[in-house]
Amino acid sequence: MNIETIAVLGAGTMGHGIAQLGAEASLNVVLCDISGPALERAMKMIEAGIVIEGRTIEQCRAITGRIKGMTSIRDAVRSAGLVIECLPEDLELKKKVFREIDGICSPEVILATNTSGLSPTEIAKGLSYPERVVVAHFWNPPQLIPLVEIVPGERTSLSVVDAAVEWVRSLGKEPVRLKKECPGFIGNRLQLALLREALYIVDEGYADIEEVDRSIIYGHGRRLPVTGPFLSADMGGLDIFHIISSYLFPVLCNAPEPSRLMQGLVEKGDLGMKSGKGFYDWNDEMRKKTIQLRTETLVHFLEKDTSKG
Ligand code: NAD
Repeated sequence: MNIETIAVLGAGTMGHGIAQLGAEASLNVVLCDISGPALERAMKMIEAGIVIEGRTIEQCRAITGRIKGMTSIRDAVRSAGLVIECLPEDLELKKKVFREIDGICSPEVILATNTSGLSPTEIAKGLSYPERVVVAHFWNPPQLIPLVEIVPGERTSLSVVDAAVEWVRSLGKEPVRLKKECPGFIGNRLQLALLREALYIVDEGYADIEEVDRSIIYGHGRRLPVTGPFLSADMGGLDIFHIISSYLFPVLCNAPEPSRLMQGLVEKGDLGMKSGKGFYDWNDEMRKKTIQLRTETLVHFLEKDTSKG
């Protein structure tokens, strides 16, 4: 695989971070957004992100110099060896854009989507070359989280999956490969299973929001960077986990609808940090402190990863 240029479609939360990763890995990056102001914002965020990482001015210039902004998708994908789509999570929009680029990119160009959980088979439907469509699901912030889930659709070829895994490794990320697609892939299924149970505990009045968060931060969450659910179970003893499963599985939340608590907040426009209110009240100080703490912790883990190997 010899990819020199990538096109990143969508310069929002995920697109700008993936563009930065590509440029840091010495790729030429065409960053495309329908909105000029969004492109300008993205370039400013990339510059700020590189500075935080402690690069010299020359290194910053070299990285940003490899990123070219564009507002036309057709022009953006023309010279790309790989396209990574980071458009809003809207199946019809993604299908429309994939149909458009299918006719422009030569057949060996990989068309990757950063969808959080939509079906790659659906996205690839009706394309001339559906075998080159694959999910490469980066996690936010993509500069600091190693995981990228690689998910094939029903018609994705094995060589495209292999190439996507190789590309993700070349960016310094940790690819996790699914055998076949499922809604939400692995990461969002597990994340949302935890959120559903957390909401249920609060909804049922068993504990307050802060206590639920604290129980993860100071308990289960402390182990998670080292041991996933299977390693944790093995280390705790499968006999114990089996007994706990037998009395707990029947009473865990299995609600098929989103939580009423969260729905009520969304209807009021309380969307969390971005609107100033959600489960918590977000003033400027709390926002800055939480982002800083999260960044420092994620950088600490990245440094540990690097020293491992
Ligand atoms: P976002 O809303 O921040 O960015 C989307 C960008 O796409 C915007 O800048 C918008 O102007 C641009 N856009 C919209 N229509 C366009 C078009 N027709 N042509 C070109 N540009 C267009 O979205 P995001 O949070 O970066 O999410 C992008 C994708 O990544 C989604 O599929 C999302 O589910 C997935 N994702 C998001 C996160 C997250 O935490 N935000 C994490 C992982 C995956």
